[in-house]
Amino acid sequence: MHSVTRVSDLIDEVTHSWNIPLIKTLFSDIDVEAILSIPISSQGALDKGVWHYTDNGLFSVKSAYHLTRSSNIPYNSRERGESSSGSLQDGIWRLIWSLRVPNKIKSFLWRCSHNALAVLSNLFNKKIDVSPYCPRCNFAFETIEHLIFQCKSSKEVWANSPFANAVSPSWDSLSFTEWWIGMVQSVRNSSGVDDLHAILATLCWMLWKGRNIAYFDKKFWTCSTTVEKAITLCEEFKAATETVHALPRLSTPPHPSSWLPPPPNVIKLNVDGAVNKKNGISGAGIVARNHLGEILGSISIPFLGFLLPRSTEALAFREALITAAIRGFSEIIVEGDSLQVVQALIQDGKSLSDCSSILADCVELIPLFSSCSFIHVKRSCNRIAHSLAKQSLLGAKLECWGGPVSQHLASLARDDIQSSDCSLS
Ligand SMILES: [Zn+2]
Repeated sequence: MHSVTRVSDLIDEVTHSWNIPLIKTLFSDIDVEAILSIPISSQGALDKGVWHYTDNGLFSVKSAYHLTRSSNIPYNSRERGESSSGSLQDGIWRLIWSLRVPNKIKSFLWRCSHNALAVLSNLFNKKIDVSPYCPRCNFAFETIEHLIFQCKSSKEVWANSPFANAVSPSWDSLSFTEWWIGMVQSVRNSSGVDDLHAILATLCWMLWKGRNIAYFDKKFWTCSTTVEKAITLCEEFKAATETVHALPRLSTPPHPSSWLPPPPNVIKLNVDGAVNKKNGISGAGIVARNHLGEILGSISIPFLGFLLPRSTEALAFREALITAAIRGFSEIIVEGDSLQVVQALIQDGKSLSDCSSILADCVELIPLFSSCSFIHVKRSCNRIAHSLAKQSLLGAKLECWGGPVSQHLASLARDDIQSSDCSLS
């Protein structure tokens, strides 16, 4: 006989889902249904009491996240007399934001220094189903330090770069931030120090780009290719910023009546949940598209248990964020037609108690992206995700990346593009 004293005793540790056979032996049918309708955190959150009848349940992970963020606020809004680690963070902040490199590289370095990059060990620690091993050497866990300077292939890149004399084998045990400061210091007396700092930053970013190509496309850049690409990007950026003025920003209407493509370099993920109350089946649909409206990938994923419609919507957002992190997307927009879920994700301190653990998971995933925004849209703008969510009710997970899409999805995507052209002209 199981001894059940805590909620976690009812959860299967391996699959992070309710232990349905055990629950059925312990509770009445009505209670079983009520328990299975509660979504479970993928992070293994602790048991907690939640006032279930208001929208303001306890939200400890989110508040912890905000506490962490408030300790990382920019240096000019802090008081003097802070701790040495605070000063260190300030110095790093200043240095990164003064670099003459594209903003995406600054953001990348900032995420590296806060261990918030979607390297495989970080995804693995967030209970995402991936191998934590480095896809380039397959020898060690892929941490940020391994990615940037511990991996054999990264060492070769540095040895063939302008920083060949700076790197020392004894630096292998440093954290990313310590290593970064060491590298910056190593060239501080060189001529063209600003350019060298830009190349240093861009090389870190290029190692990440090369890693993504190794991971997703199974192609491997040589070390000279990586170095050349970094130097070229630095030169191009320098030339471009000296001649080009800032482009005007396009403002998006608050409630577009048709689907709008994201800006270039941003991936838009539309999500939707679906519930078949009669059969107690639920699931989600996710579609990722680029600025041309081309479908990059689509997912139909069924969920276990009798979930409420709002919980399936929240789970759809979480699946989209996990997918985007695994695919290495950097700038994303996640769009759905559940106003309550989108508001809960956007508004600080306001949550939905019945899916707070799912929303907390979502909030934990946000720092993995250089930009991540949530948009509420009408159902008419979310038809592909809706169609994929309905498909999930058939019970099988379907995922397609880079391949041809069904005629039905292709025609919905064409409609979206045509109506977005109309609304933009
Ligand atoms: Zn490696």
